Amino acid sequence: MRPSRLSSPRVQTIGPSRRALLLGLLASGCTPGAPALQGGWVGTHPERGHRLRGELPRGGGPLKKTGVLIVGAGIAGLACARALAQRGVDDIALLDLEDQAGGNSRGHSLAGSSCPLGAHYLPLPGAEAREVNELLHELGLAREQFGRTVWDEKHLCHSPQERLFIDGEWREGLLPLPGSAAAREQYRRFSALVTQAQRELGFAMPTQHARWKPGHAVLDAQTFTAWLDANALIDAHLRWYLDYCCRDDFGAGADTVSAWAGIHYFASRHGFHAPGDETGEREPVLTWPEGNGWLSARLAAPLRERIHLGRTVLRVTEQREGIELLAWNETTGAPERWAARAVVMATPLFISARLLATPPDALRTLKQAHAPWLTANLALREPLLDRPGAPPSWDNVRYGSTALGYVDARHQALDPTPRPPLLTAYLALPAASRGGLLAKPWQHWAEVVTTELAATHPDLPGKIERIDLCRFGHAMSIPTPALRGSAELAALNAQRGRVVFAHADLAGYSVFEEAYTAGVDAAARLSL
Ligand SMILES: Cc1cc2nc3c(=O)[nH]c(=O)nc-3n(C[C@H](O)[C@H](O)[C@H](O)COP(=O)(O)OP(=O)(O)OC[C@H]3O[C@@H](n4cnc5c(N)ncnc54)[C@H](O)[C@@H]3O)c2cc1C
Repeated sequence: MRPSRLSSPRVQTIGPSRRALLLGLLASGCTPGAPALQGGWVGTHPERGHRLRGELPRGGGPLKKTGVLIVGAGIAGLACARALAQRGVDDIALLDLEDQAGGNSRGHSLAGSSCPLGAHYLPLPGAEAREVNELLHELGLAREQFGRTVWDEKHLCHSPQERLFIDGEWREGLLPLPGSAAAREQYRRFSALVTQAQRELGFAMPTQHARWKPGHAVLDAQTFTAWLDANALIDAHLRWYLDYCCRDDFGAGADTVSAWAGIHYFASRHGFHAPGDETGEREPVLTWPEGNGWLSARLAAPLRERIHLGRTVLRVTEQREGIELLAWNETTGAPERWAARAVVMATPLFISARLLATPPDALRTLKQAHAPWLTANLALREPLLDRPGAPPSWDNVRYGSTALGYVDARHQALDPTPRPPLLTAYLALPAASRGGLLAKPWQHWAEVVTTELAATHPDLPGKIERIDLCRFGHAMSIPTPALRGSAELAALNAQRGRVVFAHADLAGYSVFEEAYTAGVDAAARLSL
């Protein structure tokens, strides 16, 4: 019953005449004589990561020595460094190939305002997320008062939080309302099944704080689509929404991710509140103009000179006495050699498999697919006209689209000066688009993004001042069937010694809570 257009995440296209018009507008800056559209790629350097495909360079100058090397300064690497420092381990060096720490959780600046490059929010963590809660308290985002956690309002998403464009108008919230009594019954049944799974099996965020049971394995063995079909949950609106949620958190749709992942999404943190459900309050989230770049900047700040940016690690070799590492210094254009007692591999697992001279068997045999993503920050010259219905919100999504909508980075700014919005658009792309992300010019992808946004804002193409695009060739692990329960992930999560792994990939999918906890956990498993 599910419409086939929902079955694969792909960007909707438009007919040739409208495309020609949009291209014309983009190229001309929209008014005759106006300058051409300004923009380009920002944030990531695919050519650096692709150095791993070439031969290893010789030489490397004098050996640089440290106690612990952390490869990758994303959330997991930064969390690991923080946890080691708390253990009193101070001789640490973090190496990252990009020019800014934070990995997928970095901020950007455009038209005088901060905006996200990638990750943009963190739902309020549950009690199981002990490590994350501890961090948020320490950063002053939360405090305990009379036995209750009180959150600093400044960092909670301001109202209105989200809206959905459907049937020609904006409606509050992202859940499309059921169209009939039969559909309403399906929403309620899905909600009841999520509650039942939570009660009988237990789901937690981060996943490692929930015990893996045979019932989880049953869900992990099938796709979410197969599970929905088996439960006769076929309403088109409900299916679009569930597919959207999967693409938003996992980078792939319901027919690609496991039923474990689909249910985990709701049972672990978001909840599913059918319309009319009294507990159906909007889920509060923490967010900042620069998205989770706010968090990564605060994790990185105390580490100062321990972070070495523009260092592409090429090889990590375990020796009898310790670790030797070869990196490429992107600034000097020369190799660097490092020696340490131990190493934390805080890179995606498929990269760790390439970097380690002798990867463990689990890393060699692990099969894990990563979704490509594209984000675009659009600075506008003037405010957008709006369609009827719910007012402009932080998160704005179009029903039926395979793109993920946009957030307004200025929504959360505390500066009261009226300014046009600064939009951050998100697209999770099918694997087949990875080559195009690398090969096609930024103008092509600017058109893709603009076309999508013009479906809700026809005046947008004429109002773009600048568009900065960020491509992530291998953004996040897709929790495909049999990945989460695999023996390989279990072994890599448990590995102790002088080489340990720390990355959201260890959970089978990528969110802040998983990355952060993986980093803290790796610090505890590291032998020094
Ligand atoms: C577009 C996008 C939006 C997202 N939105 C959200 C969100 O709103 N909320 C949320 O919770 N999560 C979101 N996520 C998930 C996000 O991935 C996690 O929250 C988290 O940032 C992952 O951290 P990590 O440390 O596990 O991985 P990464 O961010 O992948 O960090 C790995 C680091 O290793 C470095 N590296 C790789 N290879 C090498 C090498 N050879 N040498 C040196 N360094 C190397 C990379 O540069 C990177 O800094 C989003 C992800 C993307 C891509």
